Amino acid sequence: MEAKYVYSFEEGNKDMKYVLGGKGANLAEMTNIGLPVPQGFTISTDACNDYYKNNETISDNIINEIEKKLKELQEKQGKTLGGEINPLLLSVRSGAVFSMPGMMDTILNLGLNDTSVVALANSTQNERFAYDSYRRFIQMFSDVAMGIPKYKFENALDKIKEAKGYTLDTELNVEDLKELVKKYKEIYTKEIKKQFPQDPKEQLMLAIKAVFKSWNNPRAIVYRKLNDIPSDLGTAVNIQSMVFGNMGETSGTGVAFTRNPSTGENKLFGEFLMNAQGEDVVAGIRTPKDISSLKEVMPKAYDEFMKITSILENHYKDMQDIEFTIENEKLYILQTRNGKRTASASINIAVDLVEEGIINEKEAIMRIEPKQLDQLLHPRFESKSLNEATVIAKGLPASPGAACGKVYFNAEDVVNAKNKGEEAILVRLETSPEDIEGMVCAEGILTARGGMTSHAAVVARGMGKCCVAGCSDIKVDEYNKEIRTEDAVIKEGEYISLDGSSGCVYIGKVEKTEVSLTGNFEKLMNWANKYKSLVVRTNADNPRDAKAAIKFGAEGIGLCRTEHMFFDEDRIPAVREMILSKTLEQRLEALEKLLPMQQKDFVDIFRVMDGKSVNIRLLDPPLHEFLPHDDETIKSLSESMKVSVSEIKRRIVDLDEFNPMLGHRGCRLAITFPEIYIMQAKAIINGAIEATKEGIKVMPEIMIPLVGEAKELKVIKEDIKETIDNILEKEHMKIDYTIGTMIEVPRACLTADEIAKEADFFSFGTNDLTQMTFGYSRDDAGKFLGEYVNRELLEKDPFEVLDQRGVGKLIELGATLGKSVKPDIKLGICGEHGGEPSSIEFCYKAGLNYVSCSPYRVPIARLSAAQAVIKNENK
Ligand code: PEP
Ligand code: MG
Repeated sequence: MEAKYVYSFEEGNKDMKYVLGGKGANLAEMTNIGLPVPQGFTISTDACNDYYKNNETISDNIINEIEKKLKELQEKQGKTLGGEINPLLLSVRSGAVFSMPGMMDTILNLGLNDTSVVALANSTQNERFAYDSYRRFIQMFSDVAMGIPKYKFENALDKIKEAKGYTLDTELNVEDLKELVKKYKEIYTKEIKKQFPQDPKEQLMLAIKAVFKSWNNPRAIVYRKLNDIPSDLGTAVNIQSMVFGNMGETSGTGVAFTRNPSTGENKLFGEFLMNAQGEDVVAGIRTPKDISSLKEVMPKAYDEFMKITSILENHYKDMQDIEFTIENEKLYILQTRNGKRTASASINIAVDLVEEGIINEKEAIMRIEPKQLDQLLHPRFESKSLNEATVIAKGLPASPGAACGKVYFNAEDVVNAKNKGEEAILVRLETSPEDIEGMVCAEGILTARGGMTSHAAVVARGMGKCCVAGCSDIKVDEYNKEIRTEDAVIKEGEYISLDGSSGCVYIGKVEKTEVSLTGNFEKLMNWANKYKSLVVRTNADNPRDAKAAIKFGAEGIGLCRTEHMFFDEDRIPAVREMILSKTLEQRLEALEKLLPMQQKDFVDIFRVMDGKSVNIRLLDPPLHEFLPHDDETIKSLSESMKVSVSEIKRRIVDLDEFNPMLGHRGCRLAITFPEIYIMQAKAIINGAIEATKEGIKVMPEIMIPLVGEAKELKVIKEDIKETIDNILEKEHMKIDYTIGTMIEVPRACLTADEIAKEADFFSFGTNDLTQMTFGYSRDDAGKFLGEYVNRELLEKDPFEVLDQRGVGKLIELGATLGKSVKPDIKLGICGEHGGEPSSIEFCYKAGLNYVSCSPYRVPIARLSAAQAVIKNENK
């Protein structure tokens, strides 16, 4: 059968989003369930891919299909595109598989030309409306399809308004608009060196091409990267007969969410504008009215709209984001999609839907994007500091959260500030899709214009970024780079704080507090625990982090990096003394200083972790992280070690390594200096004895890093065991402890069967394993990996997202070999990947027992672990 590229709305349904794009699939679905949708057809995503395959040309067979569907549409509507009587006008909209709000292009009012504009004026008996539509079309077409900058048209518009003393566009009369159309066409001719195209079919083909092209515009590319949307999906194009919200006071247009997208509250949430066209609401040019007031303005349309919102939500079983237009009191639905929402709205909606009997617990778990939880785990403003702070303005609470930073007035300056390590707030009159990178880099966003569904609000909510929109209390002077309020001026680089939940803007920095799991978040996390099988542990080196992790549901410590316990200023000298010791005596002296510190730290951690496993990794200091470099430190070390400065300097030179990451670290240090791990074993077991005597249940696991050969583990284990068993015997105590190893050197994976004979457990250290599998230095890869990802040589940074095809294969091999010798060997992961959703699913499939991640990722890991089970249930 020949490929099909164009579908009328009757031919599609909601499950065809890969072919028709999300918008097209839903327009088809709504048509088929009998909702009032302006009719039209969808050009498939395959046609977009075909366009790129053919050197950016639309194939003849696709053109033929488009013409056929256009003919059908004209017949159905009894109108002709650009016709001389009763002309058909079209909207041409992009529609990707996954919604990318505002990132791609749209053209409205297509089909208008010098004759059809007259016909439109006659058929609607509204000449002003016809010319207003024509000037909008010329501007949009010129900008989107031909790349003529918008400001050229805006300048022309401003000139006429100024000359006539108007402040609003609506004050322009028919003659003004005719004049403007003439000016706009002149601008077009000057820029393109051709007349504005009068042939509607030519307009249509150029518009379709422009939409295809917009799939690869810079902002769409950034958005795709940010949201993990594959770049080869392409966009569909929806061609729909126009309905007009700008036909006067009985017309209007709006956007509504079936539930509140900031909080999840089950109440219609939206905005509309009378006498306006589609994009006016989202673009934030005029500040719209709350949807509830539509009841007074147009009660019949409002009632019908309410009915439709509930039909749509029940049909899709999820919160919907709906665009509508009212043309002379008749309601049309232009779009529905699952609405973007903040993390807390996501959770509240999913839990409410379960409680309303619409979805089940597993569906609720699958509805939440694990990464989105991150938003909820970040601090909010601390109430005392908030009470003392000065509010300088109040806008709309467009996307919750707390943010403070220095103000910058364009996206580029925000990106630069972020690169310099600053916290920045993006302040704009209104945001546009071009600002996407600035929005990503900003701590928060403040706009003077635009409503709750403006571009800034929608995008910020999707990103989970704090946003205050439509803040008309402030004047944003983008030219002079300052914010002015009645009694304050804030210049570029000065601090403000934003509360996205109240809409308040504060001068200066407001302090933030920690968060906890309560309410629906806790409920959802408990459901996750019910379905997950992986244990979720945390990486923590101190009681504070361990406590935070337990609050988030950690079931044990999977990695306590003992070298991190010595990063404190007052401790690091003792570590340096140990490293720089030349003789055993000197080293033992330094270790004596470290022993009590270690022991106390372990007792404190055991207390917090009462009854839970604590995996303690013995010292693994890449030496370069610890060696002193400045004269002052060297001098004070020479005093405490009682050796000369020059001797210390000589030692530093001796210890200097070409590749410290592959050098004298991990278990290699213990092979040359066994006394180091012996001291640590003493500290662990003495700490365990002390805690046990307090009635605490201690479950220590001792982990040896960087093992690549079974014999390394064997000799180290013997030393540790002997030390511990001697102490236990002397103290007449019994403490169950285990000794295992990290698997983080490729050779350890390849010989895991030999290593397993010596190990009670394996913990995959995927940071080092990634480093050594790729041969990318962990410390240097940042310099080139970005380019690898940009050029799609690598899908993702492998230090962030586990490389399943390479590093993953080694993990699978290590797990299989380990189990072949010891079927019950405990397997875990403690590299950064232990908190990354797709890597967690991989660990589940590879048969690991636990994942371990930083405290703030514990909820993300719990949810991902539950999703892994549910996703793979029916496979
Ligand atoms: C690892 O290598 O994955 C690991 C957890 O250890 P570190 O990051 O401390 O080298
Ligand atoms: Mg490591």
